[in-house]
Formats: sequence, C-alpha cells, structure tokens
Amino acid sequence: MSNFVIRESCPGCGNVNFEEIYSGSFTDNPVKKYLHDFYDPQGGVDFEYLAGGNYTLCECNNCSLIFQKEILNDEGMKLLYEKWIDPEKIISLFEQTYPLNYYTGYLSVSFQITNFFNQKPASLRFFDFGMGWGNWLLTAKALGVNVFGAELSEERVKYAKKNGITAITWDEIPGSNFDYINTDQVFEHLPQPLETLKHLASGLRKGGVVRICVPDGNVNKAVLSKMDWEAAKGTSDSLNIVAPLEHINCYTTQSLVKMAKEAGLNWVYIPHYPKLVIEEAPLSISAKIKSSLQLPKDIARKVYRTIRPLDISTIESPQGTNLFFIKP
Ligand SMILES: [Zn+2]
Repeated sequence: MSNFVIRESCPGCGNVNFEEIYSGSFTDNPVKKYLHDFYDPQGGVDFEYLAGGNYTLCECNNCSLIFQKEILNDEGMKLLYEKWIDPEKIISLFEQTYPLNYYTGYLSVSFQITNFFNQKPASLRFFDFGMGWGNWLLTAKALGVNVFGAELSEERVKYAKKNGITAITWDEIPGSNFDYINTDQVFEHLPQPLETLKHLASGLRKGGVVRICVPDGNVNKAVLSKMDWEAAKGTSDSLNIVAPLEHINCYTTQSLVKMAKEAGLNWVYIPHYPKLVIEEAPLSISAKIKSSLQLPKDIARKVYRTIRPLDISTIESPQGTNLFFIKP
C-alpha cells in the first residue's frame, strides 16, 4: 500500500486543469539529498517509508497555485511532524534562538488586528490555527484578548496550555464566533487548503477576519525554471517555497485571493497602526529638580520618557502573500 495520496485536482480552487512542471523520486538525488540535508538536523526522514513516492510539482491553470501532486497520507504527515521533525530538537534548535524582531513582529500583528476591531480587547476572541508553541497568541493575550489555539502536535498543545492558551479541536471550530483567525505559515502545509479555509470561515462571526500568511510564491516562475537544489534557504533561488513533503502548496497573491473567494471571503486591507517607539527624552529641568528632590534617577527617567508615532509611510504594501480576508 502506498503511503502517498494523489491530488487529482487543484487543492486551492478545485480546478482539474493543471500542468506538471517537475518530477523526481523522493528516494533518489537530488530530492533525497535535499531531504537529508534539511531533516537530519531536525530528526530525519524514514526513506523506506517514502519508497515509491515522487516529488511532483504542478501548476494550476486557473488560480496559478503551484502544488505537490503526491503528498504523504495522514499517518505519514503525523510521522513527519511528530517524529521526523523531533519536537525536542526543534525547541532547542529554533525556539530558544529567535531574535527580538521575531517577537516584535508578532506583537505588531496583534496590535494591528486588535486596533482594527476598535473594541475592548476583553470582548474579542482570537484563534490561531496551527498555533505552534503558542507564541503569537501570547502577544494577543498580553493585549487583553481571549485566545484560542489548535495544533496537530500534542507536544506543542501541552506547551501552549501551560502558558494559559485554550486549546480547541477541529470539530469545535464551526460556530465559535471568532472575531479573528490567524494562520501563519500553515496553508502551505495543508493537504486540502480550500476545504480547510471553508471550515475556518464557519468559525468566524459575520465581519470576522482571517489572515493567511504563507511563503511568497509570486517569484516562483524564475526559481522553478532553475530548480537549483543546492541553493541555500533564504537565498533568491532557494526551493524552500516548494520544499518536498512540507510546502505542498505554493501561493501567489492571485491564488490566495481566488481560494478565499471560493470560500466566500473577501480580500480586505487592514492598515498597520502607526508603530510606537519609546524614546528617551532628555531630562527636563523640572525632572532634574524632581529627581534630585525625591525620585530615584531611574524612576524619574521612566516618568519623562515620551511616546511618539513613527512615520505613517512605513505601512506595508497589501500585496504579497500576507493577506487578510473578511466574512461578509
Ligand atoms: Zn487552482
């Protein structure tokens, strides 16, 4: 019995009109070497399990989605995300090494979306689908929002619960009346992204918003004509956007918008709230007097710090593959 599922139609729009653009066995080079190099530090794949499977890239003629035709079955996906990617190795490899801007990026999204709703945070319900270790939800929680998350990996659910996040299951999503659903680096991994998006939409209230943020496949044409398996992750020719086994869907702006439309959702632009920076102001004369009179110096400094908004022109472009969709 094969450990793979064959996708017979475009998983983003359902169209059966697509073309094969690349194919190679998972257990032969160059795909095999890529899998070794990529997964060995994280755990390692079982090549016997992959025997007989092909890494086959297709492009949809309707929505421009690039997708892998042969994907692991449910059991294989579980092996991939729970064993081949070893949670214990991952937490020490990545989770404890993130730089400050990883966390400020999360805070910025939480601030952006909370500000959009213009309601008391305590009345808002945010859900992170594929929450990972719950890091994004913790930033929303810090703003006073009620936070819910779902995640396949039991290890990660346990970790998130320890941090005060309410974990829910797939079946609990419909009718949940969420104001906002976050999906960050999730949709590129999903076997049935359109069906999943419809399911998520059933958990949104009317006027609720879902975010889909995925690796940007708008440049895929040039990258895919080269298929440079040696290109390092983060470089312009990197095949990370179509990484075997994991990045089974590669989206352009158009393919995301079309998929959302199929799910009954409209593309919406949500502006970034002007970012705030805290700037140390020179101590005023009155502050100097106060600090010399009774306040310890460090407290006096905090009192006289000023907050000013940054230039509004720093707003991000609404293009790309970090998009928001609203339920009409
Ligand atoms: Zn399509």
